[in-house]
Amino acid sequence: MKILMVASEAAPYAKTGGLADVLGALPAALAAGGDQVGVVLPYYRSAAAKAQHSQPVYDRMELWFSPTRSYHVGIRRLDDRGVSFFFVDAPQFFDRPALYGESNGDYPDNAIRFAVLCRAALGVVRSLFRPDIIHCHDWQAGLVAPYMKTVFRGDPTFAGIRNVMTVHNLGYQGIYGREVLAEIGLPREMYNPARMEFWGNLSYLKAGIVYADALTTVSQGYAREIQTPEYGFGMDGLLRSCADVLTGIVNGVDYSEWNPETDPFTAARFSAADLSGKVACKADLLRTFGLPDDAAVLERPLIGIVSRFASQKGFDLIEEVAVPLMEQREVSLVVLGTGELRYEEMLRALAVRYPARVSVRAEFNNAVAHKVEAGSDMFLMPSRYEPCGLNQIYSLRYGTVPVVRATGGLDDTIDESTGFKFAEYSASALFHALNAALDAFPDRERWTQMMKNGMSRDHSWGSAAAEYGALYRSLIAD
Ligand code: ADP
Repeated sequence: MKILMVASEAAPYAKTGGLADVLGALPAALAAGGDQVGVVLPYYRSAAAKAQHSQPVYDRMELWFSPTRSYHVGIRRLDDRGVSFFFVDAPQFFDRPALYGESNGDYPDNAIRFAVLCRAALGVVRSLFRPDIIHCHDWQAGLVAPYMKTVFRGDPTFAGIRNVMTVHNLGYQGIYGREVLAEIGLPREMYNPARMEFWGNLSYLKAGIVYADALTTVSQGYAREIQTPEYGFGMDGLLRSCADVLTGIVNGVDYSEWNPETDPFTAARFSAADLSGKVACKADLLRTFGLPDDAAVLERPLIGIVSRFASQKGFDLIEEVAVPLMEQREVSLVVLGTGELRYEEMLRALAVRYPARVSVRAEFNNAVAHKVEAGSDMFLMPSRYEPCGLNQIYSLRYGTVPVVRATGGLDDTIDESTGFKFAEYSASALFHALNAALDAFPDRERWTQMMKNGMSRDHSWGSAAAEYGALYRSLIAD
């Protein structure tokens, strides 16, 4: 089978979150199983730095958006782990410091930037890589199927190609005013509730969902939740109407990158059979965060967080429980993250109040993320909603016991034998779960068993890739 994926992130070329981990690993897992796989990505400044060996394979692809408006892009190709990455080289849109926006907000031309990505992907299909399946990820790739099925309907190039859309996070919907239609070369009729119109605007994500042949999201729990008003972000009705083509496939993780036995970023290696290296990782983590690492501190439970600072991730609950937690329990906390300033400030204030026990690093730093996974005793993820979540799965492999809210992928991947869960989105429920974990911690036998239970869980990409493969085959057979 030939599969072309379209996305706005893929590790190691461009990453702000879990989407990049998925696009960094799933294509390679499919290729290892014998499929031919391509990925279309923007040639961001960060991608250019990491893909120096990519070769230009198409110099001037002209993308017409109207009789008077066109853009030129180049396509560069890099073969990596059996996958062909096609980078859309359009400096006016992608040669920028960030992927989506900077401190003063989103880039104002994001509607055009990602329309260009989608049209360029169809150019790749026309000239370089004609797949059986086009698999689009999130709103940035949402216009691929709509272009194919409206503007290019009847073009034999695209005949018979099936579209899969994966929703990695329904909270990001690519919403723009209806005036954008003229700029992105889609017909006015797209402003229609049966197509792209969404509460008076346009939604790229909705368009991708409406025009897809099959729809997936990244856990079974989340597939159910997004059909309810509480988690549907205004799209629950649409998603209920697509229920027959909507499935949940839990993300795998890349154990060649996240493995305590081989991790190059941590102070020591360890495994379920020999956990002794973990204490060196804990000491190193404490030092990395500028906290004391004497014997008494090493005995004390250490909670780790790696997260975007966003309301999705439950920081309002953390804000409510932090002071009582620090006052009532002997515990330390290290936090790595970037995002909304209000949460960063809240965490910094906590670190000022408890300087020997709380420390925050507001940066995006993969090496430190590995250290947090390896050196913490518990990993905290009290998300309001969580489509899949990867950090809790990494935590399992590092013997770092997750404390999570039972939602979406967190609920699907953590059970009572591997972690602590709470259901109600409230500070008291979170505090209760944290107390249960802290009460269990001194019982070394029970705790070590929990660590080992988690370490033995297998979330490698093999089974998820097989589920995607079965879905693709069912579409082609239709
Ligand atoms: P989301 O995609 O919603 O941000 P996930 O848990 O699915 O959450 O994936 C987050 C990914 O981003 C993980 O690989 C995590 O290690 C990484 N990550 C998040 N914040 C940081 C950070 N500040 N530094 C390094 N890696 C980070």
